[in-house]
Amino acid sequence: MVCANEPPWSSVRARLADVSLVAEIDAWDMDVAHLDAVVERLTTSADADEVAAATVVGLGGGTALDTAKYVAWRTGRPLVQVPTITSVDAGFTDAIGIRDLGKVRYVGTVVPELVVLDLPLIRSAPARLNRAGVGDILSCHTGLFDWRLATEQGTTHQWHTGLATLGATLLDELEAAIDEIAAVSDDGVRFLADAYRRIGAACAWAGHSRFEEGSEHFWAYAYEHATGAHPVHGEIISFAVCALAQVQGNDPERARRIVERAHVRAHPDDLAISRTAFAECLLGLREYARREGLDQGVAEFTTITDRHVDEAWAVVSSLPRRD
Ligand SMILES: [Zn+2]
Repeated sequence: MVCANEPPWSSVRARLADVSLVAEIDAWDMDVAHLDAVVERLTTSADADEVAAATVVGLGGGTALDTAKYVAWRTGRPLVQVPTITSVDAGFTDAIGIRDLGKVRYVGTVVPELVVLDLPLIRSAPARLNRAGVGDILSCHTGLFDWRLATEQGTTHQWHTGLATLGATLLDELEAAIDEIAAVSDDGVRFLADAYRRIGAACAWAGHSRFEEGSEHFWAYAYEHATGAHPVHGEIISFAVCALAQVQGNDPERARRIVERAHVRAHPDDLAISRTAFAECLLGLREYARREGLDQGVAEFTTITDRHVDEAWAVVSSLPRRD
């Protein structure tokens, strides 16, 4: 049972002429009602016996890999992930994220039997989608800061030196590999995939993702919820790390340097993020995080004001424009 995105599914399918598939699921919608309808159709179809013996394969970007996780979890079938772009870590994490009434919710976990890294397939995707992969690693910069802040207040998962060291190491390695990532070379793609593998394993072990996810992700969720827009995940996260690093007073220059050198799109005009929507979601971040039961970060301990909005907007507006 293949859960795939277009592109590249039809060109991959054309090369699998002799392979018989139990089901081909077009992955485009992470709304839980849609996903449940997909599972219902599979398990009540004439091929239900084959479904009950099949392997679920996710092939594509985040939506394909997340859809495959959900289908594997609901049908209890083994999972193989084939990321075809390196824009998100979804192929390497076990948490199953869905959307319920427009909000991201995690419903369970599933560990893939295998993650296939097909370098030529990945490198054939648009370069910007692969460069966007820096986002979910760069988020260690703001995530770690939030975690330390919340630890000092004693309100969170206990600080763990091993996880913190992993986050810091990944940031150093990211900076060292940044030209390879910008060039989308074999080494650049391998680095991103390997970093995701380590992040995914660490999150599964810890049972939380504080070292790599913080207020940059929460701002992005708030923005997507408020506007209904869904920019490329790694691009909006790259934007948000630059903005939130400024709010945190946490070396925003480093975040900007990495984004610039990676050639990742993160300028607000490239992502169609308006200053008004940015400001509303930043000023409302504490309220949003509380309402959604998210981890505590800078917005909980600092009252974000118009001054923070101005300063953060100045940082992201000065990022280079990209095609
Ligand atoms: Zn992410």
